[in-house]
Formats: sequence, C-alpha cells, structure tokens
Amino acid sequence: MRTKLIAANWKMYKTPEQTTAFLAEFLPMVADHTRDEIVVCPPFVDLHAAVAAAKGSNVAIGAQNLHWGKEGAFTGEISAGMLTAIEVTHVIIGHSERRQYFNETDDTVNRKLETALENGLTPIVCIGEVLEEREAGLTEDVLRRQCVRAFNGISAKKAAKLAIAYEPVWAIGTGKTATPQMAVDAHLVIRHEAEKAFGEEFAAGLRILYGGSVKPDNATALLSESEIDGALVGGASLDPAGFTKIVKY
Ligand code: PEP
Repeated sequence: MRTKLIAANWKMYKTPEQTTAFLAEFLPMVADHTRDEIVVCPPFVDLHAAVAAAKGSNVAIGAQNLHWGKEGAFTGEISAGMLTAIEVTHVIIGHSERRQYFNETDDTVNRKLETALENGLTPIVCIGEVLEEREAGLTEDVLRRQCVRAFNGISAKKAAKLAIAYEPVWAIGTGKTATPQMAVDAHLVIRHEAEKAFGEEFAAGLRILYGGSVKPDNATALLSESEIDGALVGGASLDPAGFTKIVKY
C-alpha cells in the first residue's frame, strides 16, 4: 500500500502573515488525519514562517522550485542546501508553469531532480501533456519522453524518495479535470517508465499524484482510485476549509 501524498501548490499567493494565518486554521482541522501525507508548498519568502508554524504537526513544508547548483552567481535562485537549512523537506520540480514561463526543460528538471535527491529532499516532479499533444494522440509519447529525460543517470537507490505528479497542462487552473480513467491510464504509462528505469519493486512503490483542477467535489472520485497516489492541488489549496475537504476526501 502506498501512502497517498496530498500537496498544496500555492503558486505566487500569500505573504508570510497569510501563511501563518492559513496554518493556524488548517493544522487543527487535519491534526487527527493520519491516513495521508500532507505537504504545503508556499512561495520561498513564506517558507520560514510555514516551517515554524507547522513544527511538530503532521504537515510538511515544501518549496516550489530549487536551483541545481550548490551555491554561486545565480541571482534570484535558491539552492537545495538553503531549503534543508530551514527544514523544508519537499520540493516541486518542473511544474508546467515553470516550463511554460521560465524556460525549464526536461534537462533542467533532471538536474534539479538529481540535486534534490542528493540533498535528501522529497521531489515532486511534474509532467504532463498540453492540449494539442492530447488531441494529436501524443500523450503517451510525451509522458514517456518526460520520464526518460527526468530519470536520466539517476539510480533506483538514489531515487527512493521520488514522487511524480501527472498534471495534464490543459487541466491546470482551467476548471477542467481529467477523468479518473484518463489519470489512471496516464499513471500506468508513467509507472511503466519508472519500472524500465528503476525496476519493478521501485515502480510498485512509486507515488504518482494527479494534479489539475482538483477540488473538494472531484477529489473523492480521483483519490479513490488505487492507481492515484495523491494530489497536487493549486487553486483549491489556498482556502484552509477547502483544502481540508480534499485531504479528508
Ligand atoms: C497546480 O498548480 O499544480 C495545479 C494543479 O493547479 P490547479 O489545482 O489550480 O489546477
């Protein structure tokens, strides 16, 4: 049995004060929830406040990005060591918004993944097809390519903490959700690629999350699927009561 991982991606929303207020409301509502792993990923400037507020709770804190370098002249970037120094434990890598607006590629995803794993972070690597690719029947090819390139040069031993988020780009922030069957089909492709890269045992234990307009009213249908090992939730994670409903689907 894979423990499901329910992760909030706050994108560029909330200040440190708003982060503390969210957690003050959210943590008591999920304090008794042991079934799933819960992660909140706020913007970088909020991480310190989030870690302080969530200390001793059942909610982990993750970042939305990292740089692959240890340190150096990379203005505006944040290293894995900086994240672990403030007790951040998870990191989202290769979100489609980073690929679309900030020129991230399968190659930078691979470098970031390697660095995250080397530093003991739990990476949530995002992959998924755009609408034109789905309509052209290319979804499987895209997912396979993104997996092959992301996993390049990484051993099963090193990849132990890896989680993948299948996020069809056409479903992110659009209110359009993949059907549970569409998500399951995509997850099976991803799991097969993980098996080729890391072996059967690894693939059987790999958590593959679904992301794309997950809301309180569709969370149960998606998360009841045994092949869907959690959710990466954007817009609906900004409200403590709404996100609690998703966590407790
Ligand atoms: C996301 O940001 O990863 C996401 C899936 O966003 P939303 O839930 O708003 O579609």
